[in-house]
Parts: sequence; structure tokens; C-alpha cells
Amino acid sequence: MLKMKEEMYNLVELLNKYSYQYYVEDNPEINDTQYDLLYKSLEKLEKEYPELILKNSPTQRVGDKVLKEFDKVIHTQSMLSLSNTFSIEELYDFDNRIKKAISSENIEYVCELKIDGLAVSIKYENGILAQAATRGDGEVGEDITENIKTIYSIPKELNIKDNIEVRGEVYMPRKSFELLNKSREEQGMTLFANPRNAAAGSIRQLDSKITAERKLFAFIYSFASENNFSQLESLNNIQKYGLPVNNNFKSCKNIEEVIEYINYWDKNKNNLSYDIDGIVIKVNNKDYQKTLGFTQKSPRWATSFKFPEEELATKLLDIELSIGRTGIITPVAILEPINISGSTVSKASLHNKDIISNLDVRIGDTVVVKKAGEIIPKVVKVIKELRTSDSKVFEFPTNCPSCNSKLVYEENNPFVKCLNSMCIEQNIKKVIHFASRDAMNIDGLGDKIIYSLFENNIINNIIDLYSINKEDIIGIERMGEKSVSNLLDSIEKSKNSTLDKVIYSLGILNVGKKAAKILAENYNNLHNFINADYEELINLSDIGDITARSIIEFFEIDNNKVLVENLISIGINPVYSNIIKKDNIFSNKIVVLTGKLEKLTRNEAKEYLEKYNAKVTGSVSSKTDFLIFGEKAGSKLEKAQSLGIKMLSEEEFIKIIEEEN
Ligand code: NAD
Repeated sequence: MLKMKEEMYNLVELLNKYSYQYYVEDNPEINDTQYDLLYKSLEKLEKEYPELILKNSPTQRVGDKVLKEFDKVIHTQSMLSLSNTFSIEELYDFDNRIKKAISSENIEYVCELKIDGLAVSIKYENGILAQAATRGDGEVGEDITENIKTIYSIPKELNIKDNIEVRGEVYMPRKSFELLNKSREEQGMTLFANPRNAAAGSIRQLDSKITAERKLFAFIYSFASENNFSQLESLNNIQKYGLPVNNNFKSCKNIEEVIEYINYWDKNKNNLSYDIDGIVIKVNNKDYQKTLGFTQKSPRWATSFKFPEEELATKLLDIELSIGRTGIITPVAILEPINISGSTVSKASLHNKDIISNLDVRIGDTVVVKKAGEIIPKVVKVIKELRTSDSKVFEFPTNCPSCNSKLVYEENNPFVKCLNSMCIEQNIKKVIHFASRDAMNIDGLGDKIIYSLFENNIINNIIDLYSINKEDIIGIERMGEKSVSNLLDSIEKSKNSTLDKVIYSLGILNVGKKAAKILAENYNNLHNFINADYEELINLSDIGDITARSIIEFFEIDNNKVLVENLISIGINPVYSNIIKKDNIFSNKIVVLTGKLEKLTRNEAKEYLEKYNAKVTGSVSSKTDFLIFGEKAGSKLEKAQSLGIKMLSEEEFIKIIEEEN
């Protein structure tokens, strides 16, 4: 309990600090996703321990204090926030809650872009702009009337002479933000973190001349004054008054259509000229809205879906050590699972001992994890303010966690190594690499089976794979007759691998697929390759000093030489041949692959094309000659179509391959 109290206190203090930076100073230290995640963990704790909720908790209020330099405006209707959803499950929960409260299965939602700016309330009296205010703490805002008048898209006079109050979002387009920051940089001024903060900082200026220079825009999305309009009618009427409404809204018949709309904008948000941070989902029917009502902070009839970001905060539960095939010991962070960009992340790399000490990361810390593209997620930051008294410093061990031999620590080298070539874990990793798709491509020999083969003493190294008997492995990992004979067939088939693949499969440090190809072309067979000398290697184009030394060091270890000799003796002795390089329609052409290929893997298609000297690239441009597309091809297909690039379906492509062979 004491620990929970400490954790909640720390979270409130931290969130309040961030909230002040964000709302009052317009200068946040962390991004919104990190803030939202910390906020969620506080909400979770408060739900579990309601008796410990602190009065100054950010969950108990909207926004933050207002700047005292401004005149205050008391809102006639509170300006609330929106509840957040971060996943499809949470959206379904929202939908179910609504259906239950309304006792209806047919709920129409209106989806709008969630403009990433600053909320404003604008009052018109007899059709004339009379007063504008920021949201402030939801009850009291700052008077920004003069500043709002500098925004061209907000009319000073409406088309209809009415008394109305509207709510909307002031924003700064990305281009204006870039120009503003560029000029601030030239003047040695501090930069705004993002367009939202620039917009907020610009509208909250005491001198409206500065606001006028800042190129702000606005969208209006609701009436604050009493009415009986549905959300769609509201948007329509707002437009009739001559106020700016964002055209990108959609009426959705059900939550599935909402999800489709979200997915569309998640992919296309970068094509807009301004930032959005999600989609706002509102129940359309006014009577339903009235029935659902409000919580202290937000309407129950609306929610916002926040787009996932690539950096999130989570708890580091433990640090495990992973032994690689080259003996390098990599620390791995075991995390409380989080969803980053649609996938669950429960592990992240900590790379080496220096990263652990430079980050000062401890077990129990809250850490920021980043996932960039296909790369393994990594820990990039520790939120030290959330460190609790029971966090534990991680000590690198002196001995290998697998074979217990003494680990090697070198000066100025952050990588700790196990040098025992008999180390089981190292050998398991060697076999995993050897069997992988880009190496010997042994179908059916996955990590789990490899671990079982070692555990059951059926193999101890790579070469043992080629003497496995049927009887030895039946029953392992629930393998029956059929899968056993398939596996043995694939092992046998791997003996026909090409020289570059065999070289790559040896797992020599710094020898990737490209280097393996160059080595195969130049050495022609394994016998020549194991006798390569440094001078020769370094003279090959694209083989540098580091790779050359790695190869020499690899063959200085007797076991490695013996492995290659054994491979040769069991018949794995390919000779490099380039006669297959003939010409066809893809020769010397630039080709892009897109969508999900059904019959071929991406690698197989790429290898085939490269055999004919085609260049396979990742993006479509006017230089692209062919686009080969599979299922669910998206923007690349559209772009290729618009550029008039020759397109082939996977089937048409396979037909060409078959005709060639
Ligand atoms: P919010 O921004 O999540 O959502 C509410 C706001 O959405 C409304 O006030 C309105 O201004 C805006 N909005 C935009 N388009 C809209 C539309 N079409 N319809 C209705 N509303 C629309 O909530 P908030 O209370 O303003 O701010 C909380 C958020 O601020 C947090 O979730 C967090 O992401 C961010 N924040 C970040 C930090 C930080 O340090 N980075 C600190 C505090 C808050």
C-alpha cells in the first residue's frame, strides 16, 4: 500500500509538472503518447485504490491554470475534455457502453479529425464577434478576443445576425510552423516543440500584432449555446453561419465503419497540411447525447481515438542476458507488455553494458521504448522521476549464464563475450542462424524444435543436423511421422544450397548476405574460401578491414575450420556459378514489390529478380519500370497507376518465371 501511495504521488507530481509545461508554458518536455501512458497508469491505480486519489490529481480536472496577465472569462458552459481510446478493443468497449445505455443496437456516429491545436470558445452577439476565450481549466479561460480577430478564417461578422457561442480548434499549419521555427532559430530564440505548442503560444500573446504574424487557422466543430441539433446538423448549421468547418467528417452506421475511417486517416494523416492526433467519435443523435450526459471531465457520448506513436513508456520488469551465435552477451529488457504501432512489445534491446550504465536503467524503472520500422524495439530513456525506492541496479555477471565460463571484458569495448565454443546457447543460436530462410532455408526447423533437439541431446552443433535419424525425433515437439519426414527432406535438400548461402549460414561476424555473395563470386568454392588471406580479402571490392579481419579470426578457431571441412565431406560443396545470369524483361530494370505475395516470399521474388540484374527498390518513382503487386496493395499501387508504370500481379509474375524455367 505504501508503495502504491508513493507511486501515485510520484505520478501526480510528474503529470502536473508536464501539464504545466504543456498548457501554461506551451513547452512540453515529453510527447503526448508518453503523457497519455503515464496518465493511464495513474487512472488504473486510482481505480484500484480510490481512497488514495489525490486532490491535485490531473484526473480530477481539465487543463491547467490560466496566465494571470490575461483577463479572465468565466465560461457559460464548461469547456470539457474528451475521453481517450488507444486500441480497437477500447473502441468496442465505448460502443458497447453506448448501446447499453441507450438500449439500442443502431448507433450512428459522426467521425471528425481531431485537430491538434488549442480549444477556443467564440461568442457572437447579433452576428458580431464579441468575445473569444481559451479553455483554461474548463471553467475559467483567458480572454483572447483581439488575438482571435487576427485569424482570417474566423469571420468577424456572421452570415446570420444571431447570438451564438461556438467551440473550435485554433491550429498552425505545418508549413507555417516550419517557417516560424526557422526564423526563431535564425534569431537565436527557443524553438516550439510542435505546431500545437506554436499555435497555443501564438494565441496566448499579450500583443495581438505577434499573433497576426503567426498564420493561424481554425475549425469550428460545435455550438456551446443550447440547441437541439444532432452533430451532423450542427456541422451543417455552423457552415451556414459562414464559420469554417473541416470537410473531413463522416457519418458512420456502426463502430466497424468508424474503425475503417480511423485506419484510413492513420495511413493518410501525413497528407494533410496540419497535424491531427486522432479521430473524434461522437454520437450523432441529440436525444441520445442528452441521455448519456457528461462525466466530470468529458462527454459520455464522445471519445477520441489517439493514433499510435512509436515511443511509449512502460515498466522494466527485468533484464535478461541473451547469448548470440558469436558469443556476444546482449542485455534484453523484459517489459510490461505495451502496444506500439499495432504490435505488442514485451522485450527491447539494451545492446550492451555501456548503454545500461549511460541510461542508468534499473530494474523496476519506467522506461521509454522506441520502435522504428522493422528494427527490434529499444529502450531510449528512463523516466527517473518515477523511480521508486525498490528499483534495482543491474550487475553484469562475471560468468556466462549458459556455460558458466568466465566472460571476457575488454577495455574500451562495451560488448561482453563468452569465448567458449562449446557453449550450448551459442551453438543453439548458430543452428538457428544456419537454418534460417536467408541461410540454408531449412523448412520446418524453427527455434522451438532446435531448442528441443539440443535439450534431448540429439544435436550439439550444426553438423549433427545431417545425421539425425527418424526414430530420434518422432514425438519431439509433438512431431508426427509426416512432419518428421518433411523435416528430414528439408535438411537433405539444404545440401544443394548455393555457395553464397552456405557462406552466409556460417554466421561469421560482419558477413551478411551481400558480403557472402561477393565472397562466393571471388572464391568459387568453400575450400578456397577457408584458405583466404587478409591481403586478398581486403582487396575485394566492398570487403573492408573489419569484415576481412572477422573472416580471418573465424577460421583461426579450429572448430570453425573443422565445421566447413565436415560440411564438404557430407556433400555440401557448392561451386559458384554465374551462368544463370541471362537476360529477360527485368534485366537492368527498377522493380518495386508491394502488397502481400501469396505464393512467393518477398525474398524469393527479390532473389529471382536480382538473378536477372534487376534492381529492387522500396518506393515508386518515375524511374520505376515495373510494380509487382500482391493482395492488399495500397498507396504504391495507386502511385504506380498514376505514373503509368507497368504493373504485374503476382500471378502474372509467376507465369513469367515459369515460362523462363
Ligand atoms: P484532448 O486534446 O485529448 O482532447 C480534447 C480536445 O480535443 C478538445 O478540447 C478540443 O480542443 C480538441 N478537438 C480537436 N478536434 C476536435 C473535434 N473535431 N471535436 C471535438 N474536440 C476536438 O484533451 P485535452 O484535455 O485538451 O488534453 C489532454 C491531452 O493533452 C492528453 O491526452 C495529452 O495527449 C496532452 N497533454 C500532453 C502533455 C505533454 O506533456 N506532452 C501534458 C498534458 C496534456
